[in-house]
Amino acid sequence: MSTEAAGWLISRNPATGEELGRFQSTDADSIAGLVDHSRLVANDWKRRPLRKRIEAIRQWWAILSRDAEPLADAIRAEIGKPRPEAQMEVTAALDAIRWIVKNARSTLADSRIGTGWQWAALMSPARLRWAPVGLAGIIGTWNYPVLLDAPAIAGALVAGNAVAWKPSELCIGVADRLRSTLAEAGVPDGLVVTLFGGPDVGRSLVASKIDKAFFTGGVGNGRSIAAALAARGIPMVAELSGFDPAIILPDAPMEATVRALTWAAFVGTGQTCVSIKRVIVIGDPKPWIDAINASARSLRVGDPARSDVDVGPLISQAAREKFHQTIVGATAAGATIAAGGKPIDGPGAFYEPTVLLASDHTPENVLEGVFGPVIVIRSVKDEQEAVEAANAGTFGLAASVWGRDRTRARAVADRLEVGMVTINDAVTPSGLAAAPFGGVKASGFGRVRGVLGLREFTAPQVIHERSPGGLRLHLFPYSDRLGKVFAFYRRLFHPRA
Ligand code: NAD
Repeated sequence: MSTEAAGWLISRNPATGEELGRFQSTDADSIAGLVDHSRLVANDWKRRPLRKRIEAIRQWWAILSRDAEPLADAIRAEIGKPRPEAQMEVTAALDAIRWIVKNARSTLADSRIGTGWQWAALMSPARLRWAPVGLAGIIGTWNYPVLLDAPAIAGALVAGNAVAWKPSELCIGVADRLRSTLAEAGVPDGLVVTLFGGPDVGRSLVASKIDKAFFTGGVGNGRSIAAALAARGIPMVAELSGFDPAIILPDAPMEATVRALTWAAFVGTGQTCVSIKRVIVIGDPKPWIDAINASARSLRVGDPARSDVDVGPLISQAAREKFHQTIVGATAAGATIAAGGKPIDGPGAFYEPTVLLASDHTPENVLEGVFGPVIVIRSVKDEQEAVEAANAGTFGLAASVWGRDRTRARAVADRLEVGMVTINDAVTPSGLAAAPFGGVKASGFGRVRGVLGLREFTAPQVIHERSPGGLRLHLFPYSDRLGKVFAFYRRLFHPRA
């Protein structure tokens, strides 16, 4: 976590309030110049053969792998995550970068576009090329500071772009480590511009000469950035908030499901974009409520410097206060508290893992997009109601379906309006390096990771080529004969049209 003091960002441990370091903020007025310089450096970078760009990223991967444990310690201290979660994050980031190293060549290789029947119209084949977008403006968040930002930077660079990267002001210490490893990997000086600061610095980046933005964060900020960019015709990938449902089918095995579900709800203190927030039980909810309550109450909350802690603090006192007000609002809207519901005293922003019960969707209207350790449980009559409940609301990031009968679970999963569905699992599948990650509806647009994610850093270009003086249709001057040719062509290839 970081706070600001006249030109400086102060990194703090959210579990103790201890100062971890001070980092100079970027002067917002300097950003346009830095971005211009980065674009110049990219002129040379994009002309480097792809294999050389891949080699630079392979170097970066090796350095991050070497530094994995200190990096995990830095995440643990600055974000307040238990160490195993920080280690998992670093490993998932390494997997994602390794995927890029191994698959960039095939993903970014030119491909031939054949003519099919259109040879008869004297069309020539074409070539599809994945050209770089130019300057990728990456604005990051703090909850997975390595997993979300490092593969994005790697993908942008491999694809031949310059990068202007504004990590979250709340994870500036981790970001500084990433920045220095980039230099060590031999990424040319100035190609990646790292901008330290809060929303003001982010706004200056958005206003600068970027060619595409990659934003991860809250829906309100994401939309205001999207609007500013749209006015200038600049595209964006938006990875925004979620409010993920878990549908429990009547045949779901209770013990295994509750264990997995508890982890997926409270990992990262519930500050995980794909953490489960809503549990929708088909049929009698009582046994599920009892089991989930017991499981949530068994979690050990505290300073993750200790190894016997399951759940750390929220990222800041302000985040905890906002979270608590949301819980109070949900209870005013009809939810009852089954477990937790209160801040925990101490220097850190700790909060009890909270289980709410609802008899209808009303409390969910208050909880939508909540970022903290809470789940709300309600029951529905059947699959139809479960799907309606899951699809209600504005977000569509991820959802999960839990049950023994996988055919039945798949049928439910197919009806969910989200970017990612998991069956008998949640959150961990986000680590699958080859799988594109992203949401629908208010959760955003575009994808990160995998083939689709890597190609987001490109501007597809089609190259049509014909031999000089080769056979082609000469359309002018128009004549009856040309009409007959078109009619013949149409009858031949579209006989029933
Ligand atoms: P946030 O929107 O407050 O900030 C995100 C980043 O944007 C920060 O770097 C911030 O400085 C910057 N920023 C804020 N306002 C800006 C503006 N007007 N112009 C330019 N930059 C601006 O979000 P946060 O608190 O950092 O992150 C929490 C949110 O992120 C949650 O809603 C969570 O669901 C979401 N999230 C989504 C994903 C995903 O992949 N979909 C992943 C992680 C987090």
